[in-house]
Amino acid sequence: DDAALVDELRRLDGGRYGQYRGLGGRWRFPGHVLEVARVQADPYAPPSRLVVTVPAEVAELPRDLWDTPVRARALAGYLVRQVGRRLPEHGFRLDVGGQEVLDRSSCRVEDGRVVLRLGMDLPGRGRVIDGRAAERMLCRELPAAVSAGARWAALDQEEARAFVDSVEDTDALRRALPELGLVAFVADGAVLPRRSGVDDRPLPGGGVPFESPESLRVAVDLPHRGRVTGMGVPEGVTLVVGGGFHGKSTLLRALEKGVYDHVPGDGRELVVSRPDTVKIRAEDGRRVTRVDVSPFVAHLPTGADTTDFSTDNASGSTSQAASIMEALEAGAGVLLVDEDTAATNLMIRDARMQALVAKDKEPLTPFVDLVRPLHRRHGVSTVLVVGGSGDYLDVADRVVMMDAYRPVEVTARARELAATPTGRHVEGSGFDSPRRRVPDPGSVEAESGGRVRIRNRGADALVLGESEVDLRAVEQIVDPSQVTGIGLAVLRCLRAGHLDGAATVAEVLDRLDEDLGADGVSVLLGERSLDDFVVPRRHEVAAALNRLRTLRVRE
Ligand code: ADP
Ligand code: MG
Repeated sequence: DDAALVDELRRLDGGRYGQYRGLGGRWRFPGHVLEVARVQADPYAPPSRLVVTVPAEVAELPRDLWDTPVRARALAGYLVRQVGRRLPEHGFRLDVGGQEVLDRSSCRVEDGRVVLRLGMDLPGRGRVIDGRAAERMLCRELPAAVSAGARWAALDQEEARAFVDSVEDTDALRRALPELGLVAFVADGAVLPRRSGVDDRPLPGGGVPFESPESLRVAVDLPHRGRVTGMGVPEGVTLVVGGGFHGKSTLLRALEKGVYDHVPGDGRELVVSRPDTVKIRAEDGRRVTRVDVSPFVAHLPTGADTTDFSTDNASGSTSQAASIMEALEAGAGVLLVDEDTAATNLMIRDARMQALVAKDKEPLTPFVDLVRPLHRRHGVSTVLVVGGSGDYLDVADRVVMMDAYRPVEVTARARELAATPTGRHVEGSGFDSPRRRVPDPGSVEAESGGRVRIRNRGADALVLGESEVDLRAVEQIVDPSQVTGIGLAVLRCLRAGHLDGAATVAEVLDRLDEDLGADGVSVLLGERSLDDFVVPRRHEVAAALNRLRTLRVRE
């Protein structure tokens, strides 16, 4: 018990750092059980790992706050932030997350118990054990933070309940979208702008609050807040136009992140998009493995077969074409495209260019000619930010203009303008379903002798065995722990046989989804990860697989 741990740490004080190894195992405290799951070998190694379990009878969390998976996730999201706030800044590493409330390994509420997983730098003076400091941390600071942050009696109960209810409302709103025929919803009063490109907290003061145009206003009843109103983005092709700096990209970015739930006070609590929403962008230099990009790209000057296209160094346009086809393959139902990050030559080809450069000299069919077939033939909706090309007025079901951060519906005016022909003719012949691709498991399994190393480089890259996968252009990754989760999910696909050399990418992802089910954290913990992770979406797992430079595809 804790007295035994105190004794042990006093005994170890001044000893060789390696003797810390003796701490491994379980230690019983009055309010929790501490498991030392991994002891670092030296002070410079990755932190030691702890698992703290607060039993249900100590935590006393009201059952109605954790009786559904969504509420249990939300409550865990609240508790981990409370414990995190109460831990000293140095020495402990508890993964509390940012503005999103994600399914994290760092804190779980399981049948009323609270399980925290965290890192700790076991203190040393050089390579000598500092037992006094370790005693302070493990026997005083950690128990105090856990006791104040993970017990109902010690918490601000109103705030805790509000947090859980808010997340449940977000979730309910997202679930309501299909029935309403919407792909996204932005509530009136929402705060979309962020502090900066590197600070995801809301703009101080909030800027201009969101206000829906009457013609797109939708009311939705939520379990806790009751009736809310906002802008519904309908299925089909929605164009966001408007002058530079009027808030177009900010709106699109909010929709991108609308697949996640946000913490109360974020401003995007009631900004949601369908869970199968995928942001598309150009990403020159990326790897592409055997993707059928022929709807967008025909007869390259190299003579390459564009129905079976591979490259180690894609151009802007081919990378974007590949990303669209891969998103379809992974089951995306909504695509988001921003002119700021799109390849212009894949987006537009106007009448004059059509006249100047004959079709047989231009391999590309622009997105403007494929965005409607995408919806009609494949049921995939698109929301596009395009401030610079009127050709899209011909193909948009709806046009929203951002005017000084306020959306105005201008569909009727756009129709009038589109009635005057531009002389542009439609290119391309639409779309068939993406070709089957069967990934070769041997090309994914990194040769590192059984144990595959998984590490994140922030939210930018995944280290998987010997490979490093560049994820900077996968914009819906918001948290480094998601990257670790993607790595674990890939491993899981290998170990559980989802990726078996016969299954297509889509089949692998379906099996993974089914496997992760309602309790993905437990499944991925089964991959014996001691690092913090977040359960990823199938779309980000696919994005990582598709960017793996060793990937081979069999058909
Ligand atoms: P666009 O894509 O139309 O050029 P952005 O979305 O990039 O414009 O926005 C331009 C700037 O305005 C950004 O600095 C952004 O943070 C800020 N901004 C966006 N929406 C709002 C708002 N509702 N209130 C205040 N500032 C905003
Ligand atoms: Mg922009």
